[in-house]
Amino acid sequence: MILPRFDVLVPNSVDEAFAMLSRYAEKGIRILAGGTDLLVDLRRPIIPAAIPSCEGCARHKSGSIRSTVDCGWWESDSSRESDRALLTKVQDSIHKYPEYIISLHKLKELRGIAVNEKVNLRVGAMTTITDIERSGIIREKWTALAEGADSLGSPLVRNRGTIGGNIANARPAADTFIPSVALGGVLDIHSEKGSRKVPVDSFASAPGETVMEKGEMITGIEYPAPPEFSGSAYYKLANRKALEICNVGVAVWIALEKPGGPVTDIRVALGAVGPTPILAESVKEVLVGKKPEDANIKKAAKAAREDATPIDDHRGSAWYRSMMVELVTDRMIRLAVERVGGKV
Ligand SMILES: Cc1cc2nc3c(=O)[nH]c(=O)nc-3n(C[C@H](O)[C@H](O)[C@H](O)COP(=O)(O)OP(=O)(O)OC[C@H]3O[C@@H](n4cnc5c(N)ncnc54)[C@H](O)[C@@H]3O)c2cc1C
Repeated sequence: MILPRFDVLVPNSVDEAFAMLSRYAEKGIRILAGGTDLLVDLRRPIIPAAIPSCEGCARHKSGSIRSTVDCGWWESDSSRESDRALLTKVQDSIHKYPEYIISLHKLKELRGIAVNEKVNLRVGAMTTITDIERSGIIREKWTALAEGADSLGSPLVRNRGTIGGNIANARPAADTFIPSVALGGVLDIHSEKGSRKVPVDSFASAPGETVMEKGEMITGIEYPAPPEFSGSAYYKLANRKALEICNVGVAVWIALEKPGGPVTDIRVALGAVGPTPILAESVKEVLVGKKPEDANIKKAAKAAREDATPIDDHRGSAWYRSMMVELVTDRMIRLAVERVGGKV
């Protein structure tokens, strides 16, 4: 993989990390967690096909394909028109790159799963997807998050990828982001200037864009304690069982007065059917106060479909996605109700 040139900073403490993020904010700095999104992102515009063979310079033999960034060719004053066009392209893409990458791998305090005395769950930003998948307490009480972790990538990707990276990357199909919206997760965002809390459902503003400002970093995510008679479920509908981005992802969290109902609260999150994961607010209006019975669940699933704004792409048509939102929401509500001990 050919990467652009950057310096890697390795802080030994979170305070040092905040100071570095602030110091280099204007020069361009990106956070490296597991790197499974970031490295792919950095490499994208410089692909070998777009890079000419080095025509012989002080450093390389003629014909060896090297990153033009490494070679220094891109800084040269080439006379060939095709070279100049390519030079502009390469320089444009280089300008989008950060000068610094800050690696958080030494910051042990950012990794871990803890349940506090109020039984809220706190997951450190550097906690890997595998750690989440293997956590018994998460599977028991925040089930949808464990199911999101189960469905992400492959074992290798889950071993490196982190929950902080999955959420910060802000993709509408991100498999821990969608359940985190349903479970009412709140992000701890810190910088040298202080800290703030941002609900996961208002964190992403567009695909790949978030409300985070320069110098800020996610340190962890907190999930409220599930009340008695509450449960959750996540399903990722994809063309393959593994190593696939979802066509539709639905996470449901439901709270009942007692097994069998009525519904006291519900949060349904929809993934890959809008520019960001969507909290389907209309479901609440349809189901709260009602018994989780067949007809009510069907109405709730239709309401979720109304809240979705899918598009056509190579993974599926908007029409198909819209139908699947209804179907999967229906199934996930029923599953969550069953997990609370109810029958539909
Ligand atoms: C083969 C493959 C398959 C994949 N399959 C899936 C899949 O099925 N489902 C899915 O959801 N994703 C998938 N992904 C994407 C990726 O693995 C996940 O999004 C992963 O959780 C990202 O975590 P990371 O630690 O690797 O993030 P990184 O790549 O290190 O970072 C991702 C982004 O978040 C920023 N960032 C990281 N940590 C922080 C922080 N603490 N604070 C602020 N910003 C931060 C980085 O600067 C970067 O912009 C796949 C990736 C690959 C390569």
